[in-house]
Amino acid sequence: RELSKHFGGERRLLAAPTARVHAVNGVSLAVQAGETFAIVGESGCGKSTLGRLLLRLIESSEGRVLYRGRDITHLRDEPLRALRREMQLIFQDPFSSLNPSMRVGRLLAEPMLLHRLASKRSAAAKVAELLETVGLQAAHANRYPHEFSGGQRQRIGIARALAGEPRLVIGDEPVSALDVSVQAQVINLLETLKQRLGLTLVIIAHDLAVIRHMSDRVAVMYLGQIVELAPVEALYDMPLHPYTQALLKAIPASTPHLRHARALPLGDLPDPTSPPSGCHFHPRCPHARPMCATEMPLRQTLPGGRQVACHFWMEIQNAGGSAPAATA
Ligand code: SF4
Ligand code: MG
Repeated sequence: RELSKHFGGERRLLAAPTARVHAVNGVSLAVQAGETFAIVGESGCGKSTLGRLLLRLIESSEGRVLYRGRDITHLRDEPLRALRREMQLIFQDPFSSLNPSMRVGRLLAEPMLLHRLASKRSAAAKVAELLETVGLQAAHANRYPHEFSGGQRQRIGIARALAGEPRLVIGDEPVSALDVSVQAQVINLLETLKQRLGLTLVIIAHDLAVIRHMSDRVAVMYLGQIVELAPVEALYDMPLHPYTQALLKAIPASTPHLRHARALPLGDLPDPTSPPSGCHFHPRCPHARPMCATEMPLRQTLPGGRQVACHFWMEIQNAGGSAPAATA
């Protein structure tokens, strides 16, 4: 609720203050138990920071995090450790997230022992079961991470996240470091595990291609704010925010799933330390009008729970989503 995270801005004696970045700026959202919720936006839009705020891996500057009805914003020590088991992160980079000096068996047994989900005696059998759950073999427990391919390593990363028997798993671009050919396998694995284990999934992605057929709802982020939030079909069928429209246009039509999107035809993301005035998107928006440069649009909630933050979304829809004649 109204979560913000600022970095920098400290004043030091005899030095200029460091640049202040509002990495996450007043974000409110509610993830439902059992759903797959996607957070999408370009690199630098604050989505990884938001994921870490939700997991309490970093402290928020403002706002609150509630988990199963309980305010966990300031939880510490033992209660926080107990919660860590329920909430796990899958990292983007399977290569650097696994300790290279540990055999896979130990990597997976560690969280089980830490959270007393297995005894030293029963851990080996549980590890074998877990490896099979993620499509690997029991014998793989004796190997080191470097002996596996990228896709296999991400399976190990997923297994490690599952070893503590979590309820909520946040995947921070869990497939973007993988070859296109194995992305589908890992996504299918996450889907299957979600169904089988009754997980709640939050998937962070930098384009809309990857999350299309695995998410229930999508939040689109731009420079620290949510600009649109909608069920996935509605978002694809009728994107309301010009930024969402641009993200969708960037998906190649030939294989609309599982390809990295093309670069946005909008130029570069503005410097997050000095975001544009008014609507942060206005310098890149094909629909921008003078008002957009001075007034920040509020997030409106539409019937059905969709949300959009654009002054002119309705006019843009009525005009068929195409750019108006340049009058500004
Ligand atoms: Fe574009 Fe203006 Fe809407 Fe922002 S508020 S997305 S600049 S039309
Ligand atoms: Mg990131």
